Amino acid sequence: MTQAARARTAEAAPAADSHDDTRTAMSGATLRRAFLDHVFYTQGKLPGLASPNDLYQALAHTVRDRLVQRWISTAETYLGHPSRTVAYLSAEFLVGPHLGNNLVNLGIFDEVRETMAELGLDLDELLAQELEPGLGNGGLGRLAACFMDSLATLQIPALGYGIRYEYGIFQQSIVDGQQIELTDTWLRHGNPWEIQRSEWAVEVKLGGHTEHYTDDRGHYRVRWVPAKTVVGVPFDSPILGYRVNTVNTLRLWRAEATEAFDFGVFNRGDYLGAVNKKVTSENLTKVLYPNDETEQGKELRLEQQYFFVSCSLQDMLRLLDAHGIPVTRFHEKFAVQLNDTHPAIGIAELMRLLVDEHSLTWDDAWHITRQAFAYTNHTLLPEALETWPLPLFARTLPRHLEIIYEINSRFLNEVRIRYFGDESRLSRLSLIDEHGARSVRMAHLACVGSHTINGVAELHSRLMREDVLKDFHELYPDRFTSVTNGVTPRRWIALSNPRLSRLICESIGDGWIQDLEQLRGLEPHAEDASFRERWRAARRENKVDLARLIRDTTGVTVDPDSMFDVMVKRIHEYKRQHLAVLHIVALYHRIKSDAHADIAPRTFLFAGKAAPGYHYAKLMIRLITSVGEVINRDPQVRDRLKVVFLPNFNVTYGQRVYPAADLSEQISLAGKEASGTGNMKFAMNGAITIGTMDGANIELREAIGAENFFPFGLSASEVYALKASGYRPADYYESHSELRAVIDLLSQGFFSRGDPTVFQPIFGNLLHHDPYMLLADFASYVLCQNDVTAAFSDQPRWDRMSVLSSARSGRFSSDRAIREYCERIWRVQPVPVPLLHRAAMSTAGTRRNGEAGASGGM
Ligand SMILES: *Cc1c(COP(=O)(O)O)cnc(C)c1O
Repeated sequence: MTQAARARTAEAAPAADSHDDTRTAMSGATLRRAFLDHVFYTQGKLPGLASPNDLYQALAHTVRDRLVQRWISTAETYLGHPSRTVAYLSAEFLVGPHLGNNLVNLGIFDEVRETMAELGLDLDELLAQELEPGLGNGGLGRLAACFMDSLATLQIPALGYGIRYEYGIFQQSIVDGQQIELTDTWLRHGNPWEIQRSEWAVEVKLGGHTEHYTDDRGHYRVRWVPAKTVVGVPFDSPILGYRVNTVNTLRLWRAEATEAFDFGVFNRGDYLGAVNKKVTSENLTKVLYPNDETEQGKELRLEQQYFFVSCSLQDMLRLLDAHGIPVTRFHEKFAVQLNDTHPAIGIAELMRLLVDEHSLTWDDAWHITRQAFAYTNHTLLPEALETWPLPLFARTLPRHLEIIYEINSRFLNEVRIRYFGDESRLSRLSLIDEHGARSVRMAHLACVGSHTINGVAELHSRLMREDVLKDFHELYPDRFTSVTNGVTPRRWIALSNPRLSRLICESIGDGWIQDLEQLRGLEPHAEDASFRERWRAARRENKVDLARLIRDTTGVTVDPDSMFDVMVKRIHEYKRQHLAVLHIVALYHRIKSDAHADIAPRTFLFAGKAAPGYHYAKLMIRLITSVGEVINRDPQVRDRLKVVFLPNFNVTYGQRVYPAADLSEQISLAGKEASGTGNMKFAMNGAITIGTMDGANIELREAIGAENFFPFGLSASEVYALKASGYRPADYYESHSELRAVIDLLSQGFFSRGDPTVFQPIFGNLLHHDPYMLLADFASYVLCQNDVTAAFSDQPRWDRMSVLSSARSGRFSSDRAIREYCERIWRVQPVPVPLLHRAAMSTAGTRRNGEAGASGGM
């Protein structure tokens, strides 16, 4: 804080007296008083001595107070309401920073900016203090976060259930051009956006064995005798909808030891042994597994998955009880969505809870389970389909393995009758993979136990039906549907791109923030030269800001007037960052071969994390940084080409990058990217896409018009055909002289100080295997990039495309996706929430012994 600011905050100390309902009002004066109260009472500081973090925390608490009133109003409204509730189960929620988003959704962003300015504070500096909760790897976790935003905005009763990882996705730093992982200590300053709810803690069993017996009424029963139990404690975060009173709950579970001390061990005098046991239990939710698109069968990960799913289902049963609804109506109250197979163990767990603990018959329990669950498939990569080795599964979840065997036995009986004599189909459909080391197939469990199975883009859903889940589709065609992913326009336009948002609001009003199809109103403006000028100017300012960020974080200076050609996403072979590198080297080679080559200035920006054990992906990062090292220093080239790797890509950086891109690189091999959501964020913010006919790119091109999209490469069916006929990458190398020159330059060590061994794993692989067919797509990609260059040099044309890209991106709002889930899968309706007054709420609270508060959460 500056001296002047200190003086001003000191003067502003409020006179006492704030009363109930006016306390959380949103006028400037009330916000200012509340903020200063939190600096004093919550942070325990005199304003003049407050650190930037104190000021952030005080503002976060000020905003949280406004959320809490709506949160309790929501809980009160849902309680006793007969509506169904969505329970969204996801091992990842990549929510991003809360403060700015909550200001947007409350509709007080500008007021708070002014109020802070009056106190001599810069809101942007306060926002920058927030450490984002990196509780996800990438697209899948981010989708869950966008869905939570849309559920609240659409006023749908919903709970998000997941894991409160103490360490989120690792922080990436780049040292000598290579990725280094650092732990993500996002909780180090505390988390003002969560409330611990110890009273709703539950116990979760693990390991041990089962005992079978007959109860006093002669029923066959099973008792699970666990090797250990851990306690799950819920931490609730409020998820506010846009300009509505709905505040849903994101409930994340933390593992704790059953008791502070194991008295058995303690009494033997082994104090440290007892403490150690406590530490071991708490390891369960210590760290997010940083694997992306591949599954490692690690014991702790299975335990994590079971832990959060068991906690969540037990929590739903508690809520059912609090609402006075019998367990037999579980499926009428809850629509449980499985975000990929990570929570699929929930199907066996609900069976166990209903049969073993609530004494329902198998058939009744199965009916309830099947009506409750639905499954979203996220991948076509075979290596990403989750399976668990049988011995590991038996050791960790002995009762669930029995239940899965029983589900499988009944299921295969049905199949046997339906497909008489078709033994190979039985083994293909079985929940147990009997080939080699036996394992449990989680996707099969998810399919058998769900009423609906969906893919995340039209192409993905089709390939899922025809390939990965073909046998299930033949068996249960009616269970299959498709819901194309979407992203929230609140975070990804209104919050992250205020300049463009202001221009859009001036032109067509602000209805688009809730109804993104209204962006269509921009279409006529694409022909208005003065509008396009303002559009360009807003986007250029975003580029200037990003250029400053790039300089501050990497030391590289980039020209905001060059084309920002951007590829930001997890680093993976199938996404093909190395194909983009081949193009860069082709341009470099052209300039070096002909100094007068007509190459328009471009800044290539890459960002993304590689899984720590994925050596090939880490080498791809090294390839990008190595090419950058040479190109950025070469005096003949450096004013025309720049290559930047921005470290530690996350939601916070995404908010800076997507709005500043000219060209969006969506270049995965066709048939490999399930949907993509980065493609949507770019398009909404006016970037033009160069992309393969993969995932949602196909629908994106259809929506924004073929003339505003740069497509290239093989289609998914051409990929299949080429694979089948025997793909020989070396043929492409031999027959394309530019490709040959590029690969030779790279593989001879030109970008690795003459050492040809460094990138040998990449180029050896490309020439002889090339599983993602870079060489087959290279020629088409480079030609398409030439078209991009021509379009960019025609400013009016590019700006027209940019406006249209945004104007026609409305269908990629997660609001549209959530509406489809509500109608086709969950069968839930909006429940509007009136803002209740505290006086009215306090009497209601005493009625239900502690079930008040933002409590039930539903
Ligand atoms: C949107 C997003 C992703 C997903 O990007 P794709 O291009 O769809 O792979 C990954 N990480 C972050 C931080 C994102 O915001």
